[in-house]
Amino acid sequence: MSDKFDVIVIGAGPAGYVAAIRAAQLGLKTACVDAFAGKDGKQALGGTCLNVGCIPSKALLDSSRQYWNIAHNFPVHGISVEGAKVDMAAFIGRKDKIVKQFTGGIGQLFKANKVTPFFGTGKLLKGNQVEITAADGSKQTISATNVILASGSVPIELPFAKFDGKHIVDNAGALDFTEVPKRLGVIGAGVIGLELGSVWKRMGAEVTILEALPDFLAVADADVAKIAKKEFEKQGLAIKLGAKLTKAEVRKNEVALTYEDKDGAHELVVDKLLVAVGRRAYTTGLLADDTGVKLDERGRIVVDEHCHTGVDGVWAIGDAVRGPMLAHKGSEEGVAVAEWIAGKAGHVNFDTIPWVIYTEPEIAWAGKTEKQLKDEGVPYKVGTFPFAAIGRAVAMNEAVGQVKMLAHAETDRILGVHMVGPGVSELIAECVVAMEFKGSSEDLARIVHAHPTLSEAVHEAALSVDKRAIHKGN
Ligand code: FAD
Ligand code: NAD
Repeated sequence: MSDKFDVIVIGAGPAGYVAAIRAAQLGLKTACVDAFAGKDGKQALGGTCLNVGCIPSKALLDSSRQYWNIAHNFPVHGISVEGAKVDMAAFIGRKDKIVKQFTGGIGQLFKANKVTPFFGTGKLLKGNQVEITAADGSKQTISATNVILASGSVPIELPFAKFDGKHIVDNAGALDFTEVPKRLGVIGAGVIGLELGSVWKRMGAEVTILEALPDFLAVADADVAKIAKKEFEKQGLAIKLGAKLTKAEVRKNEVALTYEDKDGAHELVVDKLLVAVGRRAYTTGLLADDTGVKLDERGRIVVDEHCHTGVDGVWAIGDAVRGPMLAHKGSEEGVAVAEWIAGKAGHVNFDTIPWVIYTEPEIAWAGKTEKQLKDEGVPYKVGTFPFAAIGRAVAMNEAVGQVKMLAHAETDRILGVHMVGPGVSELIAECVVAMEFKGSSEDLARIVHAHPTLSEAVHEAALSVDKRAIHKGN
């Protein structure tokens, strides 16, 4: 096998493996270098997302939801279950099996598309050469006309609460507890804190989340954040805002936390501490000194709007570059870069990237928040519709939350949609399509939606923009 490729991708997360497959589909001779090892020590393609992120977290969210429903939802349906028990080995084992299925699946896709995988750490050298160091220290060098950097991200560590993998953990640790912690502390009420905090709350842990900012879920629309917080607190998640951790001391089998809020200093003792205060681009050992690839002040690889680094034939995508740290954002950049390399017209619309938080209720949005529109001085109209008036949601006993649609006051073009409620992770797709096609609220209002479905909340919210919702007062 020749060691000269058309494309070498460093990193096989959702950005890198998708870029590699698309490049190979376009007839380019492609290699993908990745260092991630699974629990068996073998190469596990798929990056953070498949190994310790999107997929395993959703597996545990689903299992924990089944368990929670037995006590909290079944009785409403007239069903009682006595003596429900959890087999932790099976609970974690199911998640591991799903991870293995999907990481193995990438290997199959590579084979089918003739992408050559390399297992080791890749370093970009000058002249588009990549040095690969295997776990045993052995090295080889391959080269390509184009190199795509997709090295992803890692959790941010707090200097006074360093990860020890046992008491103070990151996302990977919190996906692998061997028993349900009696008391779980979570630092950061962001996406990971809320999703993994929900998993362990549902399994019976006492969960306290400390969030440094005074506002809850400041990235989301304020109405959505307000409704979600109320629901999470009803479920028993203790959320403390404006709470800054100052010390975390591991003692025997517990962690003593000191945090400060507007009322002064407080102590909290927990059995496990999950630190989820954001992630940072990972570029350790990725770049030789003389490559010319630049990093910004946050350590992200600097790229232009075409994901090009400015160095001939060197591109970068995914969590390692600017933009939201979302799997689908990285994948679409991967497709676009492969297409640009092949001389085609790639495209990623950053204005319609959907966000989803897989809590209960789910949270989803796309486009601008009401605050952003106000700050930008854009005239807008608002339509809302509550799931409490949606027959399907009531039948499911999940009639919580609402859909809120923001449309331009003059053109009626949809500028943002913000949802909290049942199944909104799927409902947002309809709005993304409408926004991508520059649709108006009237477009959605005039489309027939099946009855009874949750999608009627989108339909009614669109009608409500023009004050003509049918199943609520306007
Ligand atoms: P990564 O997935 O981080 O992959 C990078 C890969 O490159 C890794 O395998 C790494 O080992 C490898 N690598 C790095 N440097 C080198 C090197 N020098 N040589 C060789 N290999 C290297 N996003 C969503 O959209 N939806 C979700 O539901 C979701 N859930 C999440 C849940 C959790 C708990 C976490 C932590 C994240 C979640 N995310 C989710 C975010 C998502 O995982 C990331 O946005 C996504 O994985 C980024 O993809 P990437 O390919 O850029 O990087
Ligand atoms: P995040 O940015 O979502 O949330 C971090 C939170 O921690 C913020 O609210 C921040 O104010 C708070 N914080 C920061 N420093 C703090 C401190 N010292 N004390 C207390 N609070 C502090 O980050 P995350 O939850 O770690 O997740 C990282 C990224 O991974 C997300 O931003 C997202 O891009 C991605 N992710 C996505 C999904 C999804 O799409 N469903 C799920 C998980 C993760």
